Amino acid sequence: MKVYFLGTGTSQGIPIIGVDHPVCKSTDAKDKRLRVAVWITWEDYSCVIDCGPDFRQQMLRCGCTHIDSILFTHEHADHTAGLDDIRPFNFRQGAIPVYAHQRVIANLKKRFDYVFETVNKYPGAPTVATIEVVNNQPILLGNKKIIPVNVMHGDLQVFGYRIDDFAYLTDVKTIAEEEIAKLKNLKVLVVNALRVEPHNTHFNLQEALDFITLVQPEKAYLTHISHVLGFHEEVEKRLPENVFLAYDNLEITL
Ligand SMILES: [Zn+2]
Repeated sequence: MKVYFLGTGTSQGIPIIGVDHPVCKSTDAKDKRLRVAVWITWEDYSCVIDCGPDFRQQMLRCGCTHIDSILFTHEHADHTAGLDDIRPFNFRQGAIPVYAHQRVIANLKKRFDYVFETVNKYPGAPTVATIEVVNNQPILLGNKKIIPVNVMHGDLQVFGYRIDDFAYLTDVKTIAEEEIAKLKNLKVLVVNALRVEPHNTHFNLQEALDFITLVQPEKAYLTHISHVLGFHEEVEKRLPENVFLAYDNLEITL
């Protein structure tokens, strides 16, 4: 299985439009972060977790030409706003299966009403086949069982996903004991770490590190990063041995 980090930035991306911060001005490619998403492939299966506003650019950049499904974590725009740009995949493949919580599906129907139009739908509009994700009910993608992991983004429920010994959790602030129990014996955990300062709805760096200590994966990668966390190179030097900052275009093989 291969995991490709399409984007590792928080909601505004890095650099932020009009922000005069040293990290936004950095010339290090690892300090340039599109909105958070991953592309996961195994055998001939290809799926993405989230489809944010940078989706088009991300697909062009990584050379992805086929997706079998999209899994959504939650409905916030930095995770969903690229849905219109699945059209090139539709034109080659037909409807794309979209997996999400029923609340997220309802939200997409409201925001992308033309995608779900049943009468006189515009022929060039995107087409999806929605499949509801229910906690404690694994999903079958290709030959793999995907385990939804329920986390809390402040008051908002968000799904993370475990695939074999890999788990991807983003926008976590709190997580219940019974959900942490789903994360035993991981080779790789990806989890969000926004910045050093605390935040109401996202783990800060210390909370993410404490969570990693609790879960004990072999390796952990931090994502959903704000410019105020600091320069990639400097932050990574201060991390424990088995913890890394993810960066755009990083690919890991499991
Ligand atoms: Zn987010």
